Formats: sequence, structure tokens, C-alpha cells
Amino acid sequence: MSKSILESVQYLKSVGPKRAKLFSEIGINTIYDLLFYFPKRYIDRSTILDSKKVREYISKGYTGEITIIGKVIDTSSISYGRKRIFKVTLSDPTGKFELVWFQGIKYFKDVFQIDQFYAVSSKPVISKYNHLQFMHPDFDRIVDEENYNFLNTGKIIPFYTIPQKIKNKSIGELGIRKIIGAAVEIYSDSIADTIPNFILKKYDLMELLETIKTMHLPSSYEMLKKAQKRLKFEELFFIQILVALRRKKIFSKKKDKPFTTNADLIKKFLHCLPYELTKDQKKVLKEIRSDLESRVPMNRLLQGDVGSGKTLVALIAMLITIGNGYQAALMVPTEILASQHCRTFKNFLKDFDIEVIDVTGSNSSRERKSALQKLKSEAKLIVIGTHALFEEKIEFMNLGLVVIDEQHRFGVAQRGRLIDKGITQNVLVMTATPIPRTLAMTVYGELDVSIIENKPGGILPIKTVYRKDNKLDSIYKFIGEEIDKGRQCYIVYPLIEESEKIDLKAAEIYYEKLKNYFSKNITVGLLHGKMNADEKDSVMSEFAEGKINVLISTTVIEVGIDVPNASIILINDADRFGLAQLHQLRGRVGRGEAHSYCILMSKYELGKSIDFSSEDFEYLSNAEIERNKASIRLAAMVKFGSGFDLSEIDLKLRGPGNIFGSQQSGLPELIFADIIHDYDLLVLARAEAQAIIESDPQLKKEENFSIKKNLIACYSENIKLSNIA
Ligand code: ADP
Ligand code: MG
Repeated sequence: MSKSILESVQYLKSVGPKRAKLFSEIGINTIYDLLFYFPKRYIDRSTILDSKKVREYISKGYTGEITIIGKVIDTSSISYGRKRIFKVTLSDPTGKFELVWFQGIKYFKDVFQIDQFYAVSSKPVISKYNHLQFMHPDFDRIVDEENYNFLNTGKIIPFYTIPQKIKNKSIGELGIRKIIGAAVEIYSDSIADTIPNFILKKYDLMELLETIKTMHLPSSYEMLKKAQKRLKFEELFFIQILVALRRKKIFSKKKDKPFTTNADLIKKFLHCLPYELTKDQKKVLKEIRSDLESRVPMNRLLQGDVGSGKTLVALIAMLITIGNGYQAALMVPTEILASQHCRTFKNFLKDFDIEVIDVTGSNSSRERKSALQKLKSEAKLIVIGTHALFEEKIEFMNLGLVVIDEQHRFGVAQRGRLIDKGITQNVLVMTATPIPRTLAMTVYGELDVSIIENKPGGILPIKTVYRKDNKLDSIYKFIGEEIDKGRQCYIVYPLIEESEKIDLKAAEIYYEKLKNYFSKNITVGLLHGKMNADEKDSVMSEFAEGKINVLISTTVIEVGIDVPNASIILINDADRFGLAQLHQLRGRVGRGEAHSYCILMSKYELGKSIDFSSEDFEYLSNAEIERNKASIRLAAMVKFGSGFDLSEIDLKLRGPGNIFGSQQSGLPELIFADIIHDYDLLVLARAEAQAIIESDPQLKKEENFSIKKNLIACYSENIKLSNIA
């Protein structure tokens, strides 16, 4: 009988119950887990230099990372005044070199022992005493036997990450390799491929068994690359199978009635507009219209940078809906935004016989009762609300369209629930969060996508600058001058949750100060999340009407707020904000015809300037990114106006980690594939996955059986999260 790789590792002869318990502490329970416990990195003889070569490289101006191997001949810790450093001296056949640490001295002291061999990687430097040095390098101990093998056969050495607690229990590099080696031998018959054969052939992908063997002991870099490619493909492929299943599910319903577009109604509306629709607005409207007029439900994502004019598109889609005798709803993330949209819509629709109401948590009980009554009985109705509107049991007469604004604030699961509830058959999701294409194909992969690329014409680019906060006086002076010209200004104060109270106080003190700072004819207002809805509403209206010139605000204005006459946004402690958030905040200005400015303030000196187009940025090490995150963000804001460019940098800054927000998206995190660099592979995996689910949605065909089996074995949690029955 063939063995199963889902058996516990304890049945391996070299493991047993005691070691099995240790393994389980690092997440290895089954043979499967063990087989997929791949090395964290590999070192290849051909890429290793000796110390003489390294010196030559440095003298030629090479500044990249280098790997070198040597034997420990001395360790010492040295004090310079109050500073201490730890130094390890190693030798190789061509000379000596040193590893230097300024931190973690206690730890490293115990690590390095005389006569041990180490492989070391980092950027080398020559000290002023002409010593070859590596500061805070990565290092791996090379066990003697390997060293011997390595020097003689030149094969690639894999290095595993072995947690200290396991090392202490005497399972080292060599031990784990032997255990895994044995498992591969014994269980090789039970490793069934997870990707259908015809796909493996089509893209020349390595089979699973060989992939596992190669990952643990690659015969060459070429083979290693092939194995890694197969794993990346597999990962992207199964994510795309999940996406395709979800898509199949949400598009499978048939509509009661496809809409028709009442051209006269739309014409009349367009006639009332103070401007023409942009080319892009027309383009996406055509796409939306054809969805509404089709028998298939609409599930569409409308992506467009901040200020691109999405609201108007949504409003016209709602008009079409109402023209067909159905109600329409707009879901927004904040109450401030709900009131703003309510005002805008009422204003746009004043010559139409259409009622616009908002339903938020702060309605009085009387307002609420009357709103609920209208939802039940009035057809020509647009309702605007926060997510609470749909979470409770509210009866709609006939909801023909739901638009979700600023989707990124809701999370994919919420969107999914809404679609699944079947409240409506047409869903339009709008987002300004610029996300790279790769991510869009995954997180929004089940939706059709429309994109607004260009903002309404006549809008000038926003000038973004960075200033240290000792420049505040001259900046206030500048703001005063702009206000004299008739402009308005936002001043943003960061509000961080843990210290909300203190920050709020700071904002209030700041407000008092500024009130006195500006001349008497300048009105300063304050807006923060702790105010009640009516207070917020009245401050926002006053600002929108131009009665308030300077609005001091927390990030409650972050999304969606639209006051075209506001042309300056000053962001205090800008280093505390994330890139997406900064871009959203900046999007509050640049909505009118005046020159707009975004001023980023911080206590800190902006680090050395960063050349984003250079290879150096592409290959900045994680440590450097970590150290410079804030200044990279600010420099990126100054350099890039487009959310799309910023999104790629943001992804890089956030690093692999929790890219999808798996709890929200129901998608597993990527382990092997890289969301930016593996774009080509993603496109292939997506096409294959879609074709398979299209022709065999239940995965009943024999050739697809391996997919079904693996879905059940490895992705059942994700199936549950993304609500694919
Ligand atoms: P967002 O896409 O960020 O939601 P909005 O819908 O708030 O953008 O629109 C941004 C601004 O552009 C608003 O002030 C809106 O009135 C204006 N706008 C929208 N469409 C046009 C157009 N076709 N021409 C000129 N201005 C427009
Ligand atoms: Mg908007």
C-alpha cells in the first residue's frame, strides 16, 4: 500500500515522537510539511569570491553584495569610549577578512567558534587600516563535511532556517537535510502532481516530485530556477482557480430583467452639468451601460485615481437604474462622505423627480423610521449610507444597483457578502486605491474592470514639497497669501489610535494657536472623528461653502471629500502616514482650476535623495528599506503624482508579508511568487485557471481531478473564506 504524505513525521525512523514534537513547534507536522520545508537560501560555488578577489572588485569600484567563505581564526570585542564592537576574523587561502557588529554583541559572541567555517554575505568595505570588512553580514555556518563536498564538487549548498530551539536539541543543518532526504526517498511514490499533465507539458514545468528533490538539493542553478518557477506557477494557478470559481459563482445568476437606457433622461441630466464628461468617463459609462443592459449581473470594478470623477459616473449609472423603475444605493465608508454625496446628488438632481436620502448611524429615530418606510415603498429613490445600511435587515422595495465607493475601506469579504446576499443583481465597486495590475487581477480578479486613466482636463498637477517643520512660519505666510486670493486650505493632524486623546488635544491646542495666528478675516475650523455627526456636518458644509478658510482636521477627510476650491493641503508629521494614505490626503486638492499644493511636514531631515528609476532602488536591501521607509515615502510623494507609480513603491516598501490581507480577501499569501516580478507567469496561470473553470466548473473531468484534490487538501480554508460553495 502506498504511504500518504499526510502522515505524521513521527513515523520517519530518524524522527520519532520526541523530535516530532520539536518539529511541530516550527509548523512541521506531516510529511507534506517537511517536504515543503525548503531552504531559505542557496550558495553556489561559482558566485563565491576569495578575499583577494574581493579586494580587486572593490578597487574597481564594485559596491554590491558579495559571498565569501572562511575559517574563524579570532574573535574579539573592542570598546571605543562608550561604543562597543564585536569583531570576528576569518581566513581563506588568499588572506584574511573581518566581520563587524555594533549591535547584538552578546549573541554573536556565542555563535562564532575558532576553526569553524562560515559563508558570509554582505557589502564589503576596506577599513582605514586596510582591513577587508563586512558589517552586520548574513552568515551561515558550513558543517565540515559539506565544506569538503562543496570544495570538491562545487555543488550548490542549501541553507535552511533552523530555529534555535531545535538546534539546541541537536537537529542542525545536516540533520534536517538527512531527515528530509530520507522522507523524499520513502514517500516519493505518494507524491502525486497537483497540476494537470497537459499544463505541465504546455509550459515545460517541472513535475512535483522532481521539484521537491531539486529544491532540497539542486544539481545546478538552472534546475533550481526551474523548480522555483514551477512552485510559483502552482501558487498563482491555485489562487486563480479560487478567483475563477468565485467569478463563476457571482456571474452565474440570471437577472430578472435587463435594463434599457432612457436616453432622454440621461441627455437631460448631461444638459444640466456645468461641464462635459471626459473621454474616460464616457468610456467607462459605456461599459457599465452594457452590463446593465445585459442578462448577466453586473460585477464591475471602477478604478480611477483620486479626483478622476468617479462620483458622476456612479450617479449616471443610478439614473439609468431609476429610469427602469428600480431603486439605487450608494455605500460609503464614512458619515461625512455620506452627507457630502447626499448634498452633491440633491444638487445635481434638483430638476428631477428623484428623492435622495441618507441612512447613517446618526439618524434620529424619527428620520430613520421615515427612511425605512421610503426604502420599502418608493421607487424613485437613491439611498446613501454607510455599511450599516446593508448589514441590518432592511427591506428594499426593489434595489436595482448598489455602488460601493472607496471599496478599499470595506474589505473584500464585505463586498463578497453583499454580492452573495443577492440584495441586488448589479454591483459597481469604485476604488481610488491604486493597485498594481498584478494585485488587481487577484484581489479583484473575479470582477470586470473599468479604468479611468485621466483626470478631467484643465486640472493642473499638484505641486508637492517636503519641508522640515522649522519652516512653518513661512508656510503659514504662504497659506495666508493664497487665502487672500480666495483659496482654501486643509491642515491635517495625524491621529494615531493608541494616543487618540493626546493627539486630539494637540489638534485642539493647535487650532487655538492658529486661530490667533492668521489675520482676523481668516476663519479657521476644526474637524475630528470624535465630534458628533451634526457638528461634523455643519463644519464640512461651512468649509464647502467657503465660510471656513482653513480647516484643521484629522484624517477623517482622507477619503472622498470634494471641495474644489481647496487648493492647499498641509500634512503635519507626514512621516507617520503610509503612502496610500498620503496620496489619498493629497487627493483632497487639485480638484479645481487653481494651482494646488501639498506640503509634507516632518520633524526629520529627509535622508539622501533617492533615485527611484535606478537599479539601486530596485535592489535596495530589506534592511535599508526598513531604515529609510519614511524618507522613501516622502521622496516618492514629491516625485510621483500618479497613484499607480506610488502603488508599486508602496508594495515594495510593504514587502512580501500580508499583501492580500488574507482574512479579508480569502486568498492565501504568496510564498514563492512575487506579485510584481512574476507578472508574466500570473497571466499564464490566470488564463489556464479561467479556461479550466469555464469548461469544467465542478472539476469533474478526470484530467482536472488533481486540481480538485489539491484544492480540498490545501485550500479548504480559503474556499470557506471566499464563500465558494
Ligand atoms: P473621485 O474619482 O476622487 O471620486 P470626484 O468624483 O470627487 O473624484 O471628482 C473630482 C472633481 O472633479 C469633482 O469636483 C467633480 O465635480 C469634478 N469633475 C467630475 N467630472 C468632471 C468633468 N467631466 N469635468 C470637469 N470636472 C469634473
Ligand atoms: Mg470619490
